Amino acid sequence: MYPPHFGNNPLFPSKNDFRVVLKNHVAGMGVMTYKFIAKGSLVCAIAGDIITDIRQHTLQIEPDLHLHDLFFSGYFLHSCSPNIELDMKKLLVHAVQDISPMDYLTMDYAQTEDILYKQFPCGCGSENCRGWITGRKELPVAEAILSNGFRAPEKQFEECQST
Ligand SMILES: [Zn+2]
Repeated sequence: MYPPHFGNNPLFPSKNDFRVVLKNHVAGMGVMTYKFIAKGSLVCAIAGDIITDIRQHTLQIEPDLHLHDLFFSGYFLHSCSPNIELDMKKLLVHAVQDISPMDYLTMDYAQTEDILYKQFPCGCGSENCRGWITGRKELPVAEAILSNGFRAPEKQFEECQST
């Protein structure tokens, strides 16, 4: 899925196993798998340009370093009960749940991001859905108050202030 100049790491995702597809106009693009991936296994290695600013599809490596990958990992969708976890030091993706063919790969954006490019109401449908998604080190923006998805602001404020 990556262009040749990214190198030929055999752990890179293959076009036979994954596709970047438009899920819908709310969620946007997502990464779908065509194969079964067992919980705990390595999904693939990821790559991209390393940049210093936060953009819509970047993933945080360090607070001032972000991976910009418009071929694959930039399109991972968010879920509050994700099926993948990212190791942004080694640029590896692991499955944290069994993943079935035709499932989207989903991560928790707060696992990697201190601050999101844009906060948003979550429709992941999981039991522990946080309702409004922020980075792990930021407060909800005012728009959150107007969102149906926003829950328990007191709790989120406490958690943010204690870090
Ligand atoms: Zn959610």
